[in-house]
Amino acid sequence: MKSNPVITINHLYKSFGKLEVLKDFNLKLFEGENLVLMGKSGSGKSVMIKCLVGLMEADKGDIKVLGKDISKLKQNELDELRTKIGFLFQGSALYDSMTVRQNLEFPLRRHSHNTEKKTEELVKEALANVGLPDTIDLMPAELSGGMQRRIALARALILKPKIIIYDEPTTGLDPITAKEIILLMMNIQKKYATSSLIITHDVDCARVISNRMILLLEGKDYAEGNFKDLATSKDPKIKAFFK
Ligand code: ADP
Ligand code: MG
Repeated sequence: MKSNPVITINHLYKSFGKLEVLKDFNLKLFEGENLVLMGKSGSGKSVMIKCLVGLMEADKGDIKVLGKDISKLKQNELDELRTKIGFLFQGSALYDSMTVRQNLEFPLRRHSHNTEKKTEELVKEALANVGLPDTIDLMPAELSGGMQRRIALARALILKPKIIIYDEPTTGLDPITAKEIILLMMNIQKKYATSSLIITHDVDCARVISNRMILLLEGKDYAEGNFKDLATSKDPKIKAFFK
C-alpha cells in the first residue's frame, strides 16, 4: 500500500531558448520513502529541484509540495514551505569563514526563534546525530571531506524537515566514507521518518538506499521501478546506467 505523496510533479516542462531540458516530467515522492533519481549530467535534475522549491519558474506543469500548489504561494508562504525541505547540496557547501557552530546556527537564526540555550542544544543534538560532537568550534577547512559532508547533513536536518533532497551525496568521497554517509542517511531516515529524494550517479548508493528509482533516459524518456528490476532490465538505455 502506498502512502500519501509529499511531492507531486505533473507534466513539468522547462526550456532555455531552444534547449528543451524537461519535457513532460512527472514524479511522486511518497511519505517515508527513499526515491532515487538518476540521470546523466545535464539531464535536468538540478533544474527540476529549482522548480520544485520555487527558485526557478517552470514553463508549464503542476508542482505540489506537502499539499500546497507552489505556483499559488506568496513569497512568505514559499519561505515557510522551504523550511520543511532540507537540502544537501553537491559538495559540502558549508560557509568557509564560519565555524561548525555558526554554520549550524545559520538556518536556526534565520527561520526560527529560539533562546540561545535552545539554539545551543539543537546544534549539539545535530552534531551528535552525525557522530561529530567534538567539531563544534572547528572551521570547515580543518575537517576532512567526509566530515564536511556530515556537517552539511547536520545543517540540512537542523530544522527537522519533512523532506530531504540529496544532490550527489557521495560524489567525491572514497568508497568507505561514501558508505558511512549512506548509513548515516539511512539512520536519519529511520529516526525522523523523513521522505527523501536522492539524486545520485552512485549505483551502490542506489542499491542500498532506494525503495524506488526513476531513471532519466535519452530522449527525455524515463523508466521507473525498484532497483532490482531496473538493474536486470534488458533495455539498452536502462542497462547503460548500471555499467
Ligand atoms: P543536471 O541533471 O546535471 O543537474 P541541470 O539541471 O543542471 O543538469 O541542467 C540541465 C540543462 O539545462 C543543462 O544543459 C544546463 O546547461 C541547462 N541550464 C540549467 N540552468 C540554466 C539556466 N539558468 N540558463 C540556461 N541554461 C540552463
Ligand atoms: Mg545537477
